[in-house]
Formats: sequence, C-alpha cells, structure tokens
Amino acid sequence: MLLVRDVRMLDGRITDLYVSDGVFVSEGDASDEVIDAERSLAVPGLCNTHTHAAMTLLRGVGEGMELDRWLNEAIWPLEGRMKKRHIEAGMRLACLEMIRTGTTLFNDMYFMEDEMTSVVRDMGLRAVLGEGLIDGFDMEKLEREQRRIPGVNAEILKRGGGLVMPSMSPHAVYTVSQEGLRWSREEADRIGSGTHIHASETEKEVHDWIERTGRTPVRYLDDLGLLQKNTVLAHAVHLSDGDISLIAKRGASVSFNAISNMKLASGGPMRFRDLADAGTNVTIGTDGAASNNSLDMFQAMKVSSLLVRNRYGASSVPPGEILRCATVNGYRALGIKGGLIEEGYAADMLLVDPKHYSMTPGHDLVSNIVHSISPEAVRFSMVNGVVLMKDGHVPDAERIVDMAQEAAMDLIQEGV
Ligand SMILES: [Zn+2]
Repeated sequence: MLLVRDVRMLDGRITDLYVSDGVFVSEGDASDEVIDAERSLAVPGLCNTHTHAAMTLLRGVGEGMELDRWLNEAIWPLEGRMKKRHIEAGMRLACLEMIRTGTTLFNDMYFMEDEMTSVVRDMGLRAVLGEGLIDGFDMEKLEREQRRIPGVNAEILKRGGGLVMPSMSPHAVYTVSQEGLRWSREEADRIGSGTHIHASETEKEVHDWIERTGRTPVRYLDDLGLLQKNTVLAHAVHLSDGDISLIAKRGASVSFNAISNMKLASGGPMRFRDLADAGTNVTIGTDGAASNNSLDMFQAMKVSSLLVRNRYGASSVPPGEILRCATVNGYRALGIKGGLIEEGYAADMLLVDPKHYSMTPGHDLVSNIVHSISPEAVRFSMVNGVVLMKDGHVPDAERIVDMAQEAAMDLIQEGV
C-alpha cells in the first residue's frame, strides 16, 4: 500500500490518495510507503496515442523538405541502417523525454518492438507497442511478416509484465495489401489486442484511394473489418461526413496529431468538433520526433486546443475537454482503465508544482495545464504505483542523453 499524502486535486480539494496493486483505492490502513505531496497538484498521467518513439534519434533530420523528399532522401535511408543499438538508444531517450513531460502511457508503432519491451520496462512507462507492418503489396513479404510478427507479439506479452502490451500496426492503406490488413485484424482478435494505423493523413492519400478503390481509406478499412472499438486511427485529417459517422458508429478512436500535421503541412486541421460531437473517442498524439519535433504532450495539448479554436471559434473547446482527450480518452482507446484519479483506475499520476511561474496564478488550473505549463513544473511521475521521477529527477538521465547522442552520430556517419 502506498499513501500519497496531502495532494491538491484539479477541483481544489485537498486529499490523500491510496494505491494498492497498481490502482487507486478508496482508503488504506497501514501504508508501507508514504509520499508527502505538500499540496502539489495531482494530474492524471498523459497518454500519447500515436508515436514512433525511437525516432527521437532522427530529431531535426531533413528539416524543411517536402514530405516526399523528406521520407525518401532523409528518413528512410537512415531507418534502413538502424540497428538494435540505435533503436534502443532512441527508445531510451524517448522514454526519458516522455517521463519528463508528463506522459505515462504511449501507443507506439516502429521496429524491433520485442527488443524494445525490456527498455520500456526498465524505464517504467506503460506502453502499447506495435511492430510496424508494411508489405508493399508483395505477397511474399506479407508471408514473411505473417511468420515473424506473431513471435514479436508473443515476446512483448512475455516480457511486458502486463504494463507493455502488443498491438497490430499495419502502417496505412497505401503500404499494406488488403490481405495484410485483413490478417492484421484477425491476428489482433486472436491475441486480444487493438489495431493502430495511419489513416487519411493527407489529401493525396484520400484522393488516390478513392480513385483506386472507389472508397475513402476509412470506408475501405471498415470493409476489411479494421474499424472497431479497439482501433486507433492516427491523423484522420481529411474525413468526409460519411467517414465521421462511420467512425462514431464503429466506436473507433482517432489520434489528433496537430503539431505533426502542421509541420508536414498535411492540411486540415482534423475535424475535431465534428468527430467529438458525433460521439467519437478523440485522443491526442505527437507522432514521431522527426515530424514534431518533441514528444511533449503539454505542447501537443496546447497546439490541439489552439487549432480547434482557430477552426471552430474561441468557445468551441474548453481546456477540460482537451485534458480528457490527452488522459482518459487515450487510456480508453488503448483498452486500459486509467487517465482519471479515481478508485479502480490505474495509479498513473503526476504531481505538479502549483508555485511554478508557469502555473501562477491559479485562476484556472486546468487551463494552466493545457495552455501555460512548463514541463519543469512536473516534479513527480508515477506509473502503476511505481515512482519514475522524484523531485524532477529521472535516474540515469545524463547517461541516456549521452548514449543517444553517440548512437545518432554513429548512425549518420555509417552512411558517409
Ligand atoms: Zn505516424
């Protein structure tokens, strides 16, 4: 039993929080461990529903190129050379950044996710890791992936300790065959996982798909059975009215990636208000650090809020709604009871210094969390009742940064 004493909740209440077996409980008796919060502000841990965490190693690569050139000339050649040591260094840096900026759960899509499970476990975060599936419409490649990916998922389950779980992550409609997409869904059902896919990110993708199949990417995915309650559609920028009602009807979630969409000039913005009003579970993601360029969910919340207001009006989205998107909605999308500091919910929580300049004055604490906070104000982070950061200190931070710098230089130089 853990007792976090004397915390201030976002509604102003001062209370004590009890944690047992990784979840909040209503009251405790004898506590083995006591943390004195000294009236710090308790905030649910943030959930990043779309990222490629190890891409932190490619932060700042190929700046200013158009998407096509950026992928073909900058990103893909470097990714092609990435070895386990690079991905591991990138993942560790990503976990450090996420802990430091308030994330407690993330939904990843990348490579060597079985190997990365131990890194994430070591850093203490909760995660859903999806081995990226790209078959390029090549049936032989698909068969190879069908032999390989179930083993990756089994390994994630084995090493994940219940905190790190697998998902099926077919990349997108234009990189994965119908057979590959259908198989992803079957495999997700078999292992009881969700599906994570990029959808309708650019106008070109939607236009090409309608031309090629007569259907929008969203309708096409639905026809293949991929639009379900445990599906996360990343980006979902260019949606028709029909797409929006279909997503809501199926109960799928969308991940709003406002910063990446602006940086890569993907158009939009995503039809946040229309989606949320239709009943869709809207969540927030950063995308990889190469297109953001950070994994800071506070920035993501602020930019999401601004972009929605810019499109729909200043009263269109209260800060509380944005905070829910980044917390409880994200957890729900990934099938985890968390994102709220309430009895029975996962004990994933931050303590924020209410006296930090960026939180002062406290007229509207929720607005401060969404619009003004500096990550330095986050002093403490806990996942599953285990402390990951205390007094702003994450163990080994300096070494993790040095190793990432070294691995990044090594990766660049290998190509010279
Ligand atoms: Zn992405």
